[in-house]
Amino acid sequence: MQRVMRRERPVIAIDGPAGAGKSTLAAHLARQFGFVNLETGAMYRALALKAMEQAVALDDEMALLELAARTQIVPEPRPEGNRVLLDGVDVSRRVRETDVTEAASQVSVHPKLRQWMVAQQQRIGAKGGVVMEGRDIGTVVFPDAEVKIFLDADPEVRGNRRYLQVGPGQRPQEAIIRDLKERDARDRNRADSPLRPAEDAVILDSTSKTLEQVLAAAEEIVRRYLEGCEPGAAGEISEESSASR
Ligand code: C5P
Repeated sequence: MQRVMRRERPVIAIDGPAGAGKSTLAAHLARQFGFVNLETGAMYRALALKAMEQAVALDDEMALLELAARTQIVPEPRPEGNRVLLDGVDVSRRVRETDVTEAASQVSVHPKLRQWMVAQQQRIGAKGGVVMEGRDIGTVVFPDAEVKIFLDADPEVRGNRRYLQVGPGQRPQEAIIRDLKERDARDRNRADSPLRPAEDAVILDSTSKTLEQVLAAAEEIVRRYLEGCEPGAAGEISEESSASR
């Protein structure tokens, strides 16, 4: 049976813990299928950076919300790599640093702040044609995403990959693994939108897979979905609309 797509183009949701390879996968799929790639983590990072700069306490939800209301965060997908603009300033590199990474993890536990982020992400992705990457895309931001992939891997393997990515000598490997596990635990155990696979997500475990194998598997999932769609049949809803059902 052919599926009918409910928006002009699909939303591809990529969720999973830190260091699983989501960004690489999302960028690959976006390039491959001509979609826009949106990294939602960069939005949490940008707000965390502003909170740090303005000495707003990371555990003060109302103060963070007020800060968000007077902040402009623009994730800017680009072929050569995504940028994020904070009040018009390119902070793409700064937000990747360790202190902001930790702050973003703390900021993202607050439900009202998450609502603010989710509303923006839903607006950006409303027309589809987007690969959106984060922790809650398939469960909260786009529970009706046409394709949902949950990318996982053992924490030690993720930590090791992150270590190599950061560059040996920058930080001890044990510290990277420890931080990653702490952030994971915070993401998985928070009361609002905890990190978990959506019921209809395809779970890809990259622990013992090469990057090429992961990319090929995900590409196949998206391709299968697209091939099962009637061309030009946007805007309707069918019963069989998820890639993984
Ligand atoms: O994906 P990335 O590591 O850049 O995300 C930074 C932080 O933002 C994560 O540690 C996570 O706690 C949070 N995050 C989130 N929900 C998202 C994306 C990121 O809670 N959709």
